[in-house]
Amino acid sequence: MKRNEFKSLISWILIFFLIFLFIRGIREMQVEKEIPYSEFKTILRQGKIVEVKLKNDIITGKFVDENQKIVQFKTYRVPEDTKLIEELETQKVRFSATADRGGWLWSVLLNFGPVILIFILWYLWTKQLQSGGKQAMMFGKTRARLYMGKNKSDVTFKDVAGCDEVKEELQEIIEFLKDPKKFQRLGGKIPKGVLLYGPPGTGKTLLAKAVAGEAGVPFFSASGSEFVEMFVGVGAARVRDLFEQGRRHAPCLLFIDELDAVGRHRFAGIGGGHDEREQTLNQLLVELDGFDTTEGVILIAATNRPDVLDPALLRPGRFDRHIVVPVPDIKGREEILKVHTRKVKLSPDVNLSIVAQRTPGFVGADLANLVNEAALLAARKNKDAVDMSDFDEAIEKVMAGPARKSRVISEREKKIIAYHESGHALVAKLTPGCDPVHKISLIPRGPALGYTLQLPAEDKYIISKQELINKISVLLGGRAAEKIVFNDMTTGAQNDLSKATEIATKMVTEYGMSEKIGPLTLRKREEEIFLGRDYLTREKMYSESTAKLIDEEIKNIIETCAKNVEKLLTDNINKLNALAQRVMEKEVLEAQEIDYIIQQN
Ligand code: ADP
Ligand code: MG
Ligand code: ZN
Repeated sequence: MKRNEFKSLISWILIFFLIFLFIRGIREMQVEKEIPYSEFKTILRQGKIVEVKLKNDIITGKFVDENQKIVQFKTYRVPEDTKLIEELETQKVRFSATADRGGWLWSVLLNFGPVILIFILWYLWTKQLQSGGKQAMMFGKTRARLYMGKNKSDVTFKDVAGCDEVKEELQEIIEFLKDPKKFQRLGGKIPKGVLLYGPPGTGKTLLAKAVAGEAGVPFFSASGSEFVEMFVGVGAARVRDLFEQGRRHAPCLLFIDELDAVGRHRFAGIGGGHDEREQTLNQLLVELDGFDTTEGVILIAATNRPDVLDPALLRPGRFDRHIVVPVPDIKGREEILKVHTRKVKLSPDVNLSIVAQRTPGFVGADLANLVNEAALLAARKNKDAVDMSDFDEAIEKVMAGPARKSRVISEREKKIIAYHESGHALVAKLTPGCDPVHKISLIPRGPALGYTLQLPAEDKYIISKQELINKISVLLGGRAAEKIVFNDMTTGAQNDLSKATEIATKMVTEYGMSEKIGPLTLRKREEEIFLGRDYLTREKMYSESTAKLIDEEIKNIIETCAKNVEKLLTDNINKLNALAQRVMEKEVLEAQEIDYIIQQN
């Protein structure tokens, strides 16, 4: 128990005790009149006693006083007086004995049980509100934890692997934190807030700690979910407190984990707003605007869901630097494995690059878990060192685990994705006038399992019909490759198909590129529709027969493209195979290598 917690417990006990005394006092004042035994006997002889209860040495009961009022009394029996019962009988007083029910403690429990219960419940409740927190009554304090290994985080960039680009981007922040004055002198502007985003377990929290460790400054961290409390205003107070702490310890790093918990788009979601969260978010925005980087405080936040963040958070002067923390590729995975096996005894047959090959889709947290599992398995078998069979078993175990199930990519899936992406890339390479292919990647990004990155060679303001046809062809290349190689189709191409259909539809209805329909725009531009009113009229802009013709034309464009693409890929099946093979091995192929493979086969 921490000191503060202990203190509050003591004060609770005191309060409770005072209440107890108070109630007891009231009880005795009003309910029972304590009288000496002699007076009791006198009243008894006067025949004014109505009722008597005997309990050990205590006598309680009722008598009628001078004003004919019934008074409750209490007295202590003198043990030498053995004739009490006889006297009671001669006076015809009703008397009875009550069982001894355990004395003081019992009566306390009986009288105050409900009160105690309420107190205990309330205490637990407030404690739970703070979820493991410090003090029952200190609502407003952040539990921003100060990570101190001699006043700094002891994690450094050596502990983070497989994201060199991210580290490079963070380097500037480290330089600044090390010597804020230097930057001020040169008038340089440092981002106030850095937003790290990427899938869970890719090392965002770790990177933030490492930045503090590298710079040697204090690190305050709080999780967004801690700011969202049951009471309105508590979250906002905590935000204030976090920044307050930051100012006091500058230069330092403030870290808000899981920013999406507070930073969700306001007014979003069914059931209206969430007052508390909104207040907290507003407070966060106020603090972000109010603090000045020249003070030497930098804010880093992490999230898995940048898409749900309130746009206000991302405006310039707030979280204006965004850094993607990617899922590691095969080389990154090997690096991460190296980090985590530093303290593990490995047998010489362990080849970490093979382990990396067998773990597509694993993120840093999975790999850390994998190494741990392997070590546990080896220990269970009383081995001296962890060997390859332990790793194999551990891979299976981690893959089967609940957290991974949704992200597992099997060997067959990987092959399908490799062919799919190679299909896109090859069509783009072999069709004249297509945008150059920069990268093929099997690393998931957003909802797509893999992607082929095409970047236009120059900015374009008008697009020719042929270019649109090319775009559709490239989009169809993925499914065509799947169809040729596996003689089957998967759902993975759905996004491609809907994009292709959209382009074809625009060609026919907006750009007037269809021979049969001619140069007509049959659809209002999106903006106009957005303004309302046009919803109803829009449908009526063309007749049923034109609608049928439009559908036919769209179908025609897509089918012609699909046929051409399939022929193109079948004619170049060697190139496709070679490309897909290499993609499977390396997971990420850059432009040069893609060109090389296509030339060689
Ligand atoms: P996130 O915050 O992105 O969900 P974490 O930083 O909490 O992920 O990562 C959880 C754990 O996974 C870390 O403590 C670390 O052991 C391991 N880990 C994740 N990414 C890496 C990485 N790039 N290099 C080394 N270890 C990593
Ligand atoms: Mg995290
Ligand atoms: Zn695709």
